[in-house]
Order: sequence, then C-alpha cells, then structure tokens
Amino acid sequence: MQVNQTTLTVVRGSVLDQETDAIVNAANTKMRGGGGVDGAIHRAAGPELLEELKRVAPNGAPTGTAVLTGGHRLKQPYIIHTPGPVWHGGTRGEPELLASCYRSCMEVAHKKGLESIAFCSISTGVYGYPIERAAPLALSTVRDFLQAHPDTSLRRVVFAMFGAEEYRVFTEALGTLEKEGA
Ligand code: ADP
Repeated sequence: MQVNQTTLTVVRGSVLDQETDAIVNAANTKMRGGGGVDGAIHRAAGPELLEELKRVAPNGAPTGTAVLTGGHRLKQPYIIHTPGPVWHGGTRGEPELLASCYRSCMEVAHKKGLESIAFCSISTGVYGYPIERAAPLALSTVRDFLQAHPDTSLRRVVFAMFGAEEYRVFTEALGTLEKEGA
C-alpha cells in the first residue's frame, strides 16, 4: 500500500531480518528485556543494549510510549522500544494504548529522520491482544500517521510477521484497508 511517498508492506519473518533503519521491540514498561521478541532482540543486540536502556530509561517507560536506542550488534542502526498494553478484555483502554504505541514509534522514527522501520505485532504475543482486532488498528494508525505527515523522511514501513497466523491476518487487514482507501 502506498501513502504519499511511503510504501507500507506486510512480510513474513522476524523484525531482526529486516533491512531497515530501525526495528520495533514489543517491550515492557520496565525496559530491561524480557521474553518473546524482546528477549530475541536483547540476545542479538548484546549486553550493551541493556546498559543503554538503563541510561535512557532509568525508570522504564509507560505503556503506549516509545524509547529510541542504538541497535548495537544488530544490523539495524536503531531499536524503538514500546511497551504494549496487556489485553484485559478490551475495557481498560487497550485499543487507545495500542494505537498510541504505533503512533509513538512512528513519531520517534519521523523525528529522527529515518528512511525505514520494521514493526512486529505489538501486544499480540504473550500480552494476549486478539490479532484480528490488533491488525486493522495497527495498519490504520500507521496509515493515519503517514497521511498527517506528508513531509516525512520515512519511505518504507514494514510489518514483519513472525507467525503464520499473524501474517495471514495482517495481509488480509492490509487488503481491506487498501480497498477502503481506493
Ligand atoms: P507482547 O508481550 O507485546 O505480546 P511478544 O514478544 O510475545 O510481545 O510478541 C510480539 C511480536 O513479536 C509478535 O508479532 C510475535 O510473533 C513476535 N515474536 C515473538 N518472538 C519472536 C522472536 N523470537 N523473533 C521475532 N519475533 C518474535
């Protein structure tokens, strides 16, 4: 899908394998590493990532916000860490918080003047956010950000879907969004 100068795609694979300036880490509010993609990113980036997070986020970061670090041993120069909401049935502001995660990451990448960013699916792993609800929200939030920032440096936004099911759901949601906009 094309939004102004930016191409938005869904691919199957890990964020760690994407040729982008930054990857997004579905982190937690403590910002000290964890399981899932967070653990994989910390293992690949090396212990210097934890040291940097202790400096730049001494008290962690609230749900829905984003923190920028270097990529350290990753091939991508930057990591954008965002704590997603834990799913509690949808009545505790989860959709607003999840949208805020995507917006905050886009804001950080845009302000840094990055050309490309790869997202994983925030909150839909261990945090239990239903993928069928998360995918359209994720894609429309990023689309809205790009429409509101026609001057952005971002040329590519990749949704790297690690699992087969999330890849299927995100691909379908992107198709629906494209039809809406046509
Ligand atoms: P959350 O706690 O926010 O739900 P998870 O890490 O459980 O975070 O899942 C977030 C995203 O990261 C999902 O798209 C999931 O498929 C993906 N993911 C989980 N483990 C890995 C990994 N080892 N490498 C790459 N992506 C992963």
